[in-house]
Amino acid sequence: MTQAVPLKMESVAEALAIFGRVLIDEPMNRHTSFRIGGPADYLVVPSSTRQVPGLLATARNLGLPVTVLGNGTNTLVRDGGIRGVVIRLSACATITRLGVESLVAEGGTPFPRLAREASRLGLTGLEFAAGIPGTVGGAVTMNAGAHGADLAGVLECIDLATPAGDVLTLPVDRLGLAYRSSTLPDGIVLNAVFHLTLGDRERILRETQRNMDLRGRTQPILTPNAGSFFKNPSGDFAARLIDEAGCKGWDEGDAEVSTLHANFIVNHGRASSVQVLALAERVREQVAKVFGVVLEMEVKTIGSPA
Ligand SMILES: Cc1cc2nc3c(=O)[nH]c(=O)nc-3n(C[C@H](O)[C@H](O)[C@H](O)COP(=O)(O)OP(=O)(O)OC[C@H]3O[C@@H](n4cnc5c(N)ncnc54)[C@H](O)[C@@H]3O)c2cc1C
Repeated sequence: MTQAVPLKMESVAEALAIFGRVLIDEPMNRHTSFRIGGPADYLVVPSSTRQVPGLLATARNLGLPVTVLGNGTNTLVRDGGIRGVVIRLSACATITRLGVESLVAEGGTPFPRLAREASRLGLTGLEFAAGIPGTVGGAVTMNAGAHGADLAGVLECIDLATPAGDVLTLPVDRLGLAYRSSTLPDGIVLNAVFHLTLGDRERILRETQRNMDLRGRTQPILTPNAGSFFKNPSGDFAARLIDEAGCKGWDEGDAEVSTLHANFIVNHGRASSVQVLALAERVREQVAKVFGVVLEMEVKTIGSPA
């Protein structure tokens, strides 16, 4: 009986390079806002959304697990990195106007750029998005939101590439969008169609600026972090609970509960995922002890332990 011989990394990289740029053993701390994470076996940046179905089918045929990453602004990658292929759509970021009140954005489009484009065109509905540093694909998966609004309120449908390499168009009511979550089928968001409303351009720009100013004052945006670490429990704020439980300023190595916003964990330089998770666990235990509330993580943890 002949035994299957594992393909060499270079041969795999060659097979994947048909679809875009391939990096081998790429440190994920370069691709996450936390600046934390060990290497991905292969990081592939497809040259266009048209390449994505073929890339997914090829990865499946090679038996490689696939992870999709947007801007890595809601993700903690463990120190051992990620086995298989990580796909980032950073080269797929085109915005197209569809009729008067709709915009189509590719999955890798920075959400703030989409918000800026909408306000430039005098389209209202995305003022909340200007300071959310992820991509459109990440925003769909997380149902990103702020200032009392979220993506579910303006999304019409998406095109999704499935692991088998098919492309499905799914209307918003098939995505199970809820508070910072979705039930998106496995796959990669290639495009999202947003339905907006023509409005007063000056008012839209003013509101967007007000949201940005508020963020600059209340969030530690200059120190690496992954946004709100825990989800707000129903009817309350995680930040209030963490603050009043006395956790602000707690640390583990370079990971610290921000002294500016208690629901942010910041990385002062060389924090590891182990340190972040240990700190988060201490915070969870303390909040449970003081308030009887068990906090749920909003940040997604992926990858292998070191
Ligand atoms: C300073 C700061 C402020 C923030 N403020 C907010 C806020 O106000 N409101 C808010 O909701 N969030 C906020 N966040 C969190 C984060 O920006 C959002 O959750 C954002 O939507 C994540 O997008 P991303 O591209 O970075 O996703 P990633 O972190 O890269 O990925 C998140 C999830 O989306 C999936 N994903 C990414 N792209 C695709 C794709 N194309 N197809 C399928 N799945 C995909 C990933 O697999 C993963 O499961 C903040 C983060 C930071 C750092």
